[in-house]
Amino acid sequence: MTDGEQSGPVLVVHGGAGALPGEEDRRQYLEGVRGALAAGLARLEDGAAEAACAAVAYLESETITNAGRGAALASDGTAVLDAGFMDGASRRYGGVTGVRRCMHPVLLARRLSEDGDFGRFVGAPESDTLAEAFGVPSCAPEELVTERARRLLDERAREARRRDEGPWLDTVGAVALDAAGRLAAAVSTGGMSLKRPGRIGDSPVVGGGYWADDRHGACVTTGVGEVLMRQGTARRCVQLLSEGHAPGAAARDALAELVDYEGDRRGASGLILVTREGAVVLDHNSVEMSGGWIRPDGRSEVTAAWRRTT
Ligand code: ASP
Repeated sequence: MTDGEQSGPVLVVHGGAGALPGEEDRRQYLEGVRGALAAGLARLEDGAAEAACAAVAYLESETITNAGRGAALASDGTAVLDAGFMDGASRRYGGVTGVRRCMHPVLLARRLSEDGDFGRFVGAPESDTLAEAFGVPSCAPEELVTERARRLLDERAREARRRDEGPWLDTVGAVALDAAGRLAAAVSTGGMSLKRPGRIGDSPVVGGGYWADDRHGACVTTGVGEVLMRQGTARRCVQLLSEGHAPGAAARDALAELVDYEGDRRGASGLILVTREGAVVLDHNSVEMSGGWIRPDGRSEVTAAWRRTT
């Protein structure tokens, strides 16, 4: 899906690449995306960073997506969260991994991006102490775990044994362009369902899961973290843009590399991209991917199954 108008401030949100399990889930995902777009748009006048983080924080509070409360569970049945944020003006980034006591790791990542010359990347157990230091509400680990997430973990464990495969994906992310031409990228996840304790995916890793550079564009990815990190897909997509690729082609080629060279044979990946002019691309090679975009004049599109249009 691309937005043909291609200019001016915009917020793009996704609810993850994968296959939505049924009609009711699809409805809830799309409702979540609509809510996130509204929450983010309400902050777009305050800046791209505020808008992207507000959208992702909304989905962290929602229980349907794989972020914050209701996130996909690790193999030991606990929720272990990762998040990342990058500011396109300063190109500072923040990444947190292994968060067990905070419903809004994206806000921790945002605050970390303001620390030091380049931002910061913090792992467990210190990532859990950041909430207090930054004044972000913390929570008990059990508050992150929903009945649905427990049920999905059981079903997925059975299914994985039967078919010898994972993964189940539905990381959330947002990219935004504000009226001052600033770009931002934000991402949050419980990681891949059934992940082993200690596993870190692409979402907190700058360049793999997210990238923002006011000179070119901002991108957030979803899919198999091990592959996205190795390929540096978010940065790669923006780099292709900077080398003159059209937005749709940059997205398509960055995703194609995952399949061609990096072994994502199941086609489980997707990304959202916004250019510095405000063109929007949402592309995926997974069966489905929920998401949408919205502009300050209220024009918007939300869908569960994007198809490449360029
Ligand atoms: N990229 C995430 C990870 O590997 C999973 C996802 O996109 O849902 O942790």
